[in-house]
Amino acid sequence: MNDLYYKKNIKISLPEPVGFILKTLRNAGFEAYAVGGCVRDSILGVTPKDWDITTCATPLETKALFNRTIDTGIQHGTVTVMIKGEGYEVTTYRVDGEYADSRHPREVTFTASLSEDLKRRDFTINAMAYNEEHGVVDCFGGIDDLERGIIRCVGEPKERFTEDALRMLRAVRFSGVLGFDICDGTLNAIKELAESITKISRERIQVELDKLLMSSHPDRVTVLYDTKLINYIFKQEWKTPDNYETTDDMKKLSLAGLLSSAPKEHYVRWALFITCVNADNVLFSLKFDNSTIKICNQMLKYKNMTLSSLEPDLRHSIVNVGKDIFGKYYLPYRMTLAAENCAALEELKHVEAAYKTIISRGDCLAVSELAVNGNDIKSLGVSEGKEIGRILNELFELVLTDYTKNDREYLLGCVK
Ligand code: ATP
Ligand code: MG
Repeated sequence: MNDLYYKKNIKISLPEPVGFILKTLRNAGFEAYAVGGCVRDSILGVTPKDWDITTCATPLETKALFNRTIDTGIQHGTVTVMIKGEGYEVTTYRVDGEYADSRHPREVTFTASLSEDLKRRDFTINAMAYNEEHGVVDCFGGIDDLERGIIRCVGEPKERFTEDALRMLRAVRFSGVLGFDICDGTLNAIKELAESITKISRERIQVELDKLLMSSHPDRVTVLYDTKLINYIFKQEWKTPDNYETTDDMKKLSLAGLLSSAPKEHYVRWALFITCVNADNVLFSLKFDNSTIKICNQMLKYKNMTLSSLEPDLRHSIVNVGKDIFGKYYLPYRMTLAAENCAALEELKHVEAAYKTIISRGDCLAVSELAVNGNDIKSLGVSEGKEIGRILNELFELVLTDYTKNDREYLLGCVK
């Protein structure tokens, strides 16, 4: 490999287990490097979430060197080395074969060359390797792109997106996470190939969209509109076929604005996203878990509800929306929606204050929190379950209206 590619002056501090794995492989005569996201994040001064290792050792050779390993994806060359309960993925240098369907390489071939392995990676900033002897190996200008804040494909963008269409969405996601621009060549290729995102599984699309929405620059969702990726992601879910064409700019801008003023809260950001994309069953179609679907739908259902800071009214609203959802997600969602409307925001601040009073006082917000229960009603001679339920609901209604009435004596007195 050309010496020009080595940046010896950059020092990355490796976690101890990573240093140990690299050293063990090297002592056995193999090349080994930390690679990909962990190198990118370290250079940026961000703590990496995980450390991946690339080596010329085959999976079997790697397995022979460590006490505890897991066969994560032997056919793709990946072995997980376990150290003190933590797993580190060690992958053999490989070249991805021809792609069958814009998703999976038909075959992978191991190679003895680090630069071949780096070449198969998606973006220049993700295609760097590091070890203590050689420093950073940067064959494609990844450090320059990190400095300039640019997402650029390794190699010819159209080829790379044709091999794997998910990379288009990864480009947008990294632009949101890092606040980077996508370079022209890469962006144009996404525009050209946007439709092929339909070949990617909904689960993988969900993961990338979630990382984008939860990023520090969620306003980069505008790139989904500019490239028309959003069109193909929600092809089936748009409410009307021409919906995208007509109000595209407005929707794009309001969504970007809302997301940038929203708290970094999963349910809040997704509810805002759905509020703006104007498509049906978005969460279901992206294969979200039931609790996300339930919580977001509940917020969307009450999107336009008039909220009052009068305590009796507010207690009713809390119960309708759900007491576990109201303060944590629903109020921040409503406040974000109202961000540009001073009067509405002012009123919501009063609602928030009243909400805090209600919670800190411990007002009854569920039938189960009443000072009486079904057995109490039964002991008064009411035997039919349905009737007991009706009475409890009536008492709950009474207490929602006036919290001071959640008193056992008083409530029992009401039944008699
Ligand atoms: P994150 O911070 O999300 O973990 P990452 O860059 O580490 O970001 P991973 O999905 O963990 O992303 O992948 C690790 C590395 O594998 C990437 O840095 C990149 O080099 C390579 N890679 C991952 N997905 C692809 C892909 N679809 N096409 C090409 N290379 C990929
Ligand atoms: Mg990673």
